[in-house]
Amino acid sequence: MTGTRIVPLGTPVTEHAPCWGDPDFAVADHRWKSSEELVAICEPVLYVCGGCPHRAACIRQVRPAKTRFDGVCGGRIWLNGAILQAVPDAEVSELPPPVIRKACGSAAGARAHRRAVEQQCARCEPFNHVIEGPQGEAGEDEIQQLELPCAP
Ligand code: SF4
Ligand SMILES: [Zn+2]
Repeated sequence: MTGTRIVPLGTPVTEHAPCWGDPDFAVADHRWKSSEELVAICEPVLYVCGGCPHRAACIRQVRPAKTRFDGVCGGRIWLNGAILQAVPDAEVSELPPPVIRKACGSAAGARAHRRAVEQQCARCEPFNHVIEGPQGEAGEDEIQQLELPCAP
């Protein structure tokens, strides 16, 4: 599903962004059928996010994980709300702040943050890089998300 890049109420924060109105950022569903096709459309324009000062605001506005966004938002290529690629200097701090859950302070808590594509809370951070084996609960999506670039 391709999410909207405009907040229903209020002015889009990215109105003056370099990507504004570019159909290769919010990619219409009929233009692609596979993740490869989506990446082929988005990868050539991802560099534009590299110099954009609105990355965190862009993610806050589009809420790509929640809206299951497909396309380019906040320096990342998203498919169904999960990150496929990011600009080299993408920082975890650009993701939404963590929601504190009962599971915080455990691998399950870290997983929940990764699923929501949000920052890790301080208690979950130590569990964030634990890659579980085939018997673990980590799915392919989560392993992809574990490969997200981390803040230096
Ligand atoms: S971060 Fe990328 S998608 Fe978001 S406003 Fe900037 S250029 Fe556009
Ligand atoms: Zn946590």
